[in-house]
Amino acid sequence: MTAAKTLREASCADDYDPNSMPVAKARELIASFLTPVAAIERVHVRSALGRVLAEDIVSPIAVPGHDNSAMDGYAVRFADLKPDGETVLKRVGESFAGKPWQGASGVMGAGECVRIFTGGVMPQGADTVVMQERASEDAKGVHVAPGAVAKAGTNRRFAGEDLKQGQVVFRAGQRMRPAELGMIASLGIGEVSVYRRLRVAFFSTGDELKSIGTPLAAGEIYDSNRYTLYGMLTRLGCEVIDMGVVEDAPDKLEHAFVAAAESADVVITSGGVSVGEADYVKKLLDKLGEVVFWKIAMKPGRPLAYGKVRGAHFFGLPGNPVSVMATFYQFVRDALLTLQGQREVTPLPMFRVPLSAPIRKVPGRTEFQRGILSPDGGGYTVRTTGDQGSGILSSMSQANCFIVLGSEVGNVAAGELVDVQLLEGLI
Ligand code: AMP
Ligand code: MG
Repeated sequence: MTAAKTLREASCADDYDPNSMPVAKARELIASFLTPVAAIERVHVRSALGRVLAEDIVSPIAVPGHDNSAMDGYAVRFADLKPDGETVLKRVGESFAGKPWQGASGVMGAGECVRIFTGGVMPQGADTVVMQERASEDAKGVHVAPGAVAKAGTNRRFAGEDLKQGQVVFRAGQRMRPAELGMIASLGIGEVSVYRRLRVAFFSTGDELKSIGTPLAAGEIYDSNRYTLYGMLTRLGCEVIDMGVVEDAPDKLEHAFVAAAESADVVITSGGVSVGEADYVKKLLDKLGEVVFWKIAMKPGRPLAYGKVRGAHFFGLPGNPVSVMATFYQFVRDALLTLQGQREVTPLPMFRVPLSAPIRKVPGRTEFQRGILSPDGGGYTVRTTGDQGSGILSSMSQANCFIVLGSEVGNVAAGELVDVQLLEGLI
């Protein structure tokens, strides 16, 4: 039994209705059918940005390698400092970052101190650093102000306090962000293994669609979905294969589906899955793979097809431009992150913010209204972008968040708290 067949059977299970599939349930079902890419590439640490680690990284060294100073000041023995009153110490040398102090004996003795700078190795014998603002120097020596440090070890960074030698620093499945690049570099590692990029092919369906560069005849529109998809996929680090516009003709669609599935891990289409058109695409997909059609209980983005076409994962998104983006962010994004090899994929985080103007809503579906989150008196408030039609792509452009209203929610008054998902900073 194939995974997709199981999916088909699951879609008939009586604990939910494919004509009104809850968002969370669809997400869960999709997640259970995903197998991440396995192929691995070795890349320079810089090229690993945005990619997913395919190996555990074990620290070959301690970071930092030595106890060192967190401040410019004087390395001292805490025991030498008078609890109440000035302490005068003898300066016996300097420790610069990268140029440690080397006394004749190698050990800083009682009553002595070493001038030290941030990152300078702690001299043996010293346990504490007095910041330079709390000390002064003259012919008699270094005068440490009373109470300059409260306890032993102050302003001292310990060897291995960031990373210990032999420690597993990252596990396979870690997404590489700027901090991870820096940490890998701090270990002296120049190359890492990452999963190969996910290949995603996409095309738009619809006789009314024209590609840019072609004049429009009456009733025709330009295909915008391929551009939003291109943008969202590219930001996720996918290798994209743009297959253009495909007419609503069975032979052309079949050809496109087969070509897409042969060249990619994932096939994404937009349009042609809504009522009236579903049967048409459905028949074709029955022949080519195992695909289920759901009407998701969400707005925008009701129709959604998911399954496998000739071994490739398939997402059939609705045609309306806002629905494409909403379904992509709620379902496709998480699935692609998992397929890329990332561990612990979670949906876009949500947090609660007061509404600055009322919202009208009919209970029954989860709505993803386009919102504008703005600073307001030390906190934030959110309002909608206005008209919420699923063809109004400018609402996505104006929005910096989705306002997520659960299926049971009705009208919401100003001042009430609502869930928002940030659209800024998405990979
Ligand atoms: P469909 O799901 O094919 O019935 O399409 C729903 C609506 O979305 C129709 O108004 C289509 O014209 C529109 N639409 C479908 N695909 C695209 C596209 N690629 N770019 C812009 N609008 C589209
Ligand atoms: Mg169509």
